Amino acid sequence: MKLRLLTVALTLHLVGPGALTASGPIAERVLGRFLRYAAIPTQSKDQAGKVPSTDSQWTLARLLVEELKTVGLKDARVDSKCCVYATLPSNLPPGKAEKIPTIGLISHLDTSPDVPEGPIKPVIHRKYAGGDLALSNDRSRVLTVAENPLLKKQIGADIVTTDGTTLLGADDKAGIAEIVTALEELVANPGILHGTIKIAFTPDEEVGGSVDAFDVKGWGARYAYTVDGEQLGELSDQTFNASAGTVTFLGKNVHPGDAKGKMVNSLYAACRFVGELPRSIRPERVDGFEGYIHANAITGSEEKTTVKLLLRDFQRSGIQRKTALLERLLKRIQREFPGTKATLTVTESYRNMHDVLKDVPFVTDFAAEAMRSAGVTPVFKPVRGGTDGSDITFKGVPTPNLFTGGHNPHSRFEWISSRDMEKAVLTLVNLVRIWAEKGAGR
Ligand SMILES: [Zn+2]
Repeated sequence: MKLRLLTVALTLHLVGPGALTASGPIAERVLGRFLRYAAIPTQSKDQAGKVPSTDSQWTLARLLVEELKTVGLKDARVDSKCCVYATLPSNLPPGKAEKIPTIGLISHLDTSPDVPEGPIKPVIHRKYAGGDLALSNDRSRVLTVAENPLLKKQIGADIVTTDGTTLLGADDKAGIAEIVTALEELVANPGILHGTIKIAFTPDEEVGGSVDAFDVKGWGARYAYTVDGEQLGELSDQTFNASAGTVTFLGKNVHPGDAKGKMVNSLYAACRFVGELPRSIRPERVDGFEGYIHANAITGSEEKTTVKLLLRDFQRSGIQRKTALLERLLKRIQREFPGTKATLTVTESYRNMHDVLKDVPFVTDFAAEAMRSAGVTPVFKPVRGGTDGSDITFKGVPTPNLFTGGHNPHSRFEWISSRDMEKAVLTLVNLVRIWAEKGAGR
């Protein structure tokens, strides 16, 4: 064992699993950090009317500033909106350093408000031997292999779960722990050459507030990566194009006792419209690269009924086709319900980052190469939603998403292994090294 670790340490420029530095194995250090961060509950809150939405995020932000300083990032700071920023300056020789673009790494401080908050008590299952994992003495709280077949790949690894009463917060404290540990590696191993690296830990990602708080332009990264994905190897440079639709049906109300020949009830037209939305493109029928139209709210009375819709498609032309489909359907419904007036408005929510990333394919390619160097097979996975990277990409910093190793986010059954976290750390170290080798002038 010692011999193997020593061999890897001597070839650290091509860091692989099991790598060792002066301060101990990576897997142990990233695990220790993760457990420290996870113990601080940082759930964000919807419509809190303030940034950050919860005070607990300050506690983690301040702790991270101190940790980043301890690691050696002298300018670490938290701003008035609870965004943590720091810089690891390039260690390339003058003349070369200026040619390498500044690379950003991003994770978020908050955890999802979808699971009840409470003291988070991570449970470490050392040297997993296989089989289902009991999260506590309560027999209803069991992490099963049937529902989590990827557990089979974790034999011998240390696995962290919750005690079944709260979420774990690997989304996205694993990402933070991995970034901080990667920085520690880079500082401890000056032989690994890299350009300037910018760090951002943002608040309120889970309630859609992080990009508003985040000064993307002032930050200074040319390209960036969110470390906020799930299983080992996940690499996402595609998100949905997303639009929100509102259909308003207007009718005419009169007293029902005196309604004959006069009343136009908007509820009937609206319900018919919802029923006629094509079944084949409803969310419960589609997967992979397929988009959907989803009716997610209906409110109304005789006079006025409003239907809310979500439109999703990986192609922008797909959103246009879905909009045209809705317009045709509304014309038909209006003919069927004389006197009803229907209007449709569609507004864009976010766009597929691939529209930008396809023109800079090396950003994703370098990430895939970094994974392979760490012994990880990249798994290209389209995000059937948006990421902070979608917004950041369209603010001028192309930003794909990398795995953290986490499973079952926003759930009491969240779990992660220190082996996968170590591979995420190695991926990040390899990534900035590859940028220093191949990124000149990009
Ligand atoms: Zn996340």
